Amino acid sequence: MTPVIIIGAGIAGLACARRLADAGMAPVVLDKGRGIGGRVATRRAGDLQFDHGAQYVNAHGTGFASVLAALERAGTLAGWADGTGRTHSVGVPGMSALPKALGAWLDIRQNAQVLRLVPDAGGWLLHLADGTLRASRVVVTVPAPQVAALLGADHPLVAALGAVQLAPCLTLMAAVAGPAPFLTRKDTDDPLSWIAQDSAKPGRPQAEGALWVAQAGAAFSAAHLDDDPATLTNRMLHLLCDGLGATPTSIIYASTHRWRYARVTQALGKPFLCSNNGSLYLGGDWCLGPRIEAAWDSGTAIAADLLARR
Ligand SMILES: Cc1cc2nc3c(=O)[nH]c(=O)nc-3n(C[C@H](O)[C@H](O)[C@H](O)COP(=O)(O)OP(=O)(O)OC[C@H]3O[C@@H](n4cnc5c(N)ncnc54)[C@H](O)[C@@H]3O)c2cc1C
Repeated sequence: MTPVIIIGAGIAGLACARRLADAGMAPVVLDKGRGIGGRVATRRAGDLQFDHGAQYVNAHGTGFASVLAALERAGTLAGWADGTGRTHSVGVPGMSALPKALGAWLDIRQNAQVLRLVPDAGGWLLHLADGTLRASRVVVTVPAPQVAALLGADHPLVAALGAVQLAPCLTLMAAVAGPAPFLTRKDTDDPLSWIAQDSAKPGRPQAEGALWVAQAGAAFSAAHLDDDPATLTNRMLHLLCDGLGATPTSIIYASTHRWRYARVTQALGKPFLCSNNGSLYLGGDWCLGPRIEAAWDSGTAIAADLLARR
């Protein structure tokens, strides 16, 4: 029986695992993805790379600020002036450097999707595609709307998630030849509410043309969530060309990614949920807000509670 299994190697799961490992425990982290980091991600396509999830990371609290400061000293993060007078921290050479650093030396098992969680002799039985695992305690850090599939809709903690909401975000990645008119453009009234010249971030590899990441706003994302990939890419490319003043002949590469659960629009309002006997925790950014720091705060708070109950 594994003492602690954490489901999800996003920032919440990694923060929790890191804190437990620092306290001498040996948590096992399971993630269904090929990489780690969840929504903090870098997509590679040949020589091209794009931060197609979180664009940058900032800290408001002192705890997360000290984590970011240490990562800047190590060269994992660097400052990026976005052209509007604001400077953010970004991963180097991509945003995925952040979860990779947080996950260093942890026992993380990728391509490990948990299908179902069942109470078992005071602990939990985890059903995976290729077998089962037993754990005394389980920390679930998947997006809130995906928790019911693991626990069953009638689990008492699932009812508490009813008010939590996450909105989708459709993201275009494109390489475009020709001059780049700006570094970033934010306009919540535009179907493309955020456009960033990703290749202008520090430490990025040289690429042919400028590499752009464009995020659709809430209304466009909801309306086109189930478009087929080619239609969606064409639609978003059209909008990007308009925004950049570029012609379709200048497009070198384009693809899209759909984040079904991207941004927390209604948070739980507390850092985690826990079963009465302390054997099951639920956490993630959806507890506190739509930011990497919220995920880190949630995972860290779960670890502190779990250690206090040890
Ligand atoms: C397009 C976009 C732009 C963003 N921009 C920013 C930004 O600029 N700055 C910022 O601070 N935040 C930004 N965010 C938000 C930020 O990315 C999230 O708040 C944060 O990464 C959430 O971390 P998490 O650990 O809570 O969840 P996630 O990152 O979603 O991690 C959950 C993990 O669980 C895994 N998983 C799910 N189900 C299972 C299962 N059944 N079995 C095993 N594993 C499973 C997933 O593969 C995933 O790795 C952005 C998000 C998106 C989508």
